Amino acid sequence: MSSTFYPPQRTLMGPGPSDVSARVLAASARPTIGHLDPEFVGLMDDVKRLLQFAFQTRNELTIPLSAPGSAGMEAAFVNLLEPGDTAIVCQNGVFGGRMKENVERCGATAVMVQDRWGDPVDPEKVAAAIAANPNAKVLAFVHAETSTGVRSDAEQLCQLAKAAGMLTIVDAVTSLAGIDLQVDAWGADVVYSGTQKCLSSLPGIAPITFSADAVAAITSRTHKVQSWFLDMNLIMGYWGEGAKRAYHHTAPVNAIYALHESLLMLEEEGLQASFARHRDNHTALASGLADLGLELAVAEPWRLPQLNAVMIPEGKDDAATRSRLLADFNLEVGAGLGELAGKQWRIGLMGSSSHAVNINRCLSAFEAVLAS
Ligand SMILES: *Cc1c(COP(=O)(O)O)cnc(C)c1O
Repeated sequence: MSSTFYPPQRTLMGPGPSDVSARVLAASARPTIGHLDPEFVGLMDDVKRLLQFAFQTRNELTIPLSAPGSAGMEAAFVNLLEPGDTAIVCQNGVFGGRMKENVERCGATAVMVQDRWGDPVDPEKVAAAIAANPNAKVLAFVHAETSTGVRSDAEQLCQLAKAAGMLTIVDAVTSLAGIDLQVDAWGADVVYSGTQKCLSSLPGIAPITFSADAVAAITSRTHKVQSWFLDMNLIMGYWGEGAKRAYHHTAPVNAIYALHESLLMLEEEGLQASFARHRDNHTALASGLADLGLELAVAEPWRLPQLNAVMIPEGKDDAATRSRLLADFNLEVGAGLGELAGKQWRIGLMGSSSHAVNINRCLSAFEAVLAS
């Protein structure tokens, strides 16, 4: 016989999901209503307003897609790119590689700008790629590379693309609400995120925003968007302005309640205060890790406060350590991804997980496990 599933109480300090607060969980447990109910339509408008606040944008087309961050990535590419287009894609970790896959599946060509995993995207290489490919339509990069714990200079990269008349696709899955992300001031065109990282809401939704230039590119396409579900021309009919919302798909109503609550909490805290909290908690964690003899992998100016890549010390077993942290301390930390597997741990301090209690729990757990 199967029975009700009661999950263990974990402390989530990996690359996401992060800890979901009791307040957000309670919001998700409220009664389900129809996705075209006038009360729900009012909530949709407020979610859009709060997302504009979080993204620091006035873009009208700023909505939560009903699918995880990966669908945000896919929506960005399938809507902007048409067969035969060229996109310059920066890769300095796992997620840049997924961008390349997306470009190619659109029938477009990806010109890759490669940087070492652990370094930021090099703007000089990007400038050279733009000069060599003046007809490229899009520059795509990851603002906060969760696989390596590295921030890239999104403002500078957007400026380079804009000066060349290119559109930008910015992966802000891990950056939104954790570090500064100024969509309008930086001139970013399509920026997507996820709910389970620094927003600390339920996994499974991708906030996304489109500039007026991006919308113009989408409405003037000559080929249909290859994905019916992610075609923004259709989704605009459901999430667009005004009362006449057309059925496109059934929104994940209760997950939207949760997202709304997490955005309210962000607004109450304030964006700058949230960034400062992430930064201060990162500093506290880094100093505690240093006391344990653990080294951070990324050069200081490019470290993400919400994702700390830690070198695994000589002689310590990656998987065995993480298993003991989980079994004995209910603590989840992340493994290295791709070429960093077995070499690094990734300790997340995202959203609600970025908290002094978690830092102390994490440091004492590591101390105990590494000593044994
Ligand atoms: C987590 C993550 C994604 C994918 O998000 P999912 O919600 O897991 O699909 C994409 N890009 C980056 C940088 C991420 O950290």
